[in-house]
This record gives sequence, C-alpha cells and structure tokens, in this order.
Amino acid sequence: MPENEKQQIISKLYEKVLGPYSKSNGRKHVVVKLEDGTYQTISYPKYLMEEHLGRRLDPELETVDHIDSNHYNDEISNLRLMPREEHSSFDTRRVKLIELVCDMCGEKFQRTPRIIRIKARLGKRGYFCSRRCSGRYGRLLALKKIKKMKKQQHVESEYYKKKYLEGDLVEQGHPQATLTPEDILITVE
Ligand SMILES: [Zn+2]
Repeated sequence: MPENEKQQIISKLYEKVLGPYSKSNGRKHVVVKLEDGTYQTISYPKYLMEEHLGRRLDPELETVDHIDSNHYNDEISNLRLMPREEHSSFDTRRVKLIELVCDMCGEKFQRTPRIIRIKARLGKRGYFCSRRCSGRYGRLLALKKIKKMKKQQHVESEYYKKKYLEGDLVEQGHPQATLTPEDILITVE
C-alpha cells in the first residue's frame, strides 16, 4: 500500500493522525495535525503511549522506552514512560543533589537521585563516597570483618516525584504512582 493511502488512525488527542510511516532505519513515526492546523511528526512509540495514557507527553520531561530494548517492538506492553535523563541540559538545573554520608569513611558526599535510583534498583548495599571505600567494604565483607550493610533506598528527584507521584499519572494507575512519599524518601544522617 502506498504511503499516502495509509489508513487514518482515530485519535483522542489530535485532529488527524497519518501513518505510521517507516523511516529508512526501520523506526516508525506518525504525522499529527494539531488544533492550530499545523502538522507535527512524532515517533510512533511515543504516539502510542500518548493515546494509551489519553494525554500528550511533556517532551521536556518524558520519553518512551522500549522495555526489551528492541526499537522495532512497538507493542504497548513493551513501552514504558520514562523521565528524561537527568543529565540533559534541561534537567541539570533542576536536579537537587542528595547529601549522603559514606558508610566507610564517614565523609559527606553528594549524588544525583538518578544514580541513587539505579543503585537501589541493582540492590547495592551501603553508601560509599568512592570506589576506594566500596572496595574496602568488599574486602572487609569477604574477610567477615564487617556485617552486610543495608540495601540502598529508592529515592526520587523532586521533579520526578511531582510528575509521577503527585501528578496526573496517579490517576492513570502508573506503577510508580503506588509508592508513597515514605517509600521513596531516604534518611540522610
Ligand atoms: Zn568514603
């Protein structure tokens, strides 16, 4: 079927949606008509997520990720809404660093909520200011000279909390929305 005869999608969010069209790299996109009559190109997975959630995404804060890392698998079950990387220029201004105390040397240090989230997800134990301190912990643990430390706590950056825990996604039944502020706050000594 030629591209221009592609079936039009019924949309809750846009006046008109054309596509999906495939780029030469195999990734798909749709062309949407906005209220003001202008057209915009949106990646197909992002568009599917928008229709699924019944709202447009915030391009500065949200992105859509393929869970299985296969960029051609646009099944809605394979798509998830992600906050944009906190190291992007937009976010660095907003990210509040979390102050921590190294479990090994007692020095204060700072981490971005994103790094803390990643480590918590990996089930990392203890908070260490450096590789040197985490290495020392590993060696002492191997020698049974130290007890296993507590698993790192999940933490959310302020904007992420606002967006995902207090925002409209709570109503959408987003999995992150089930967390209470107590679940995500970490105790800083
Ligand atoms: Zn340290």
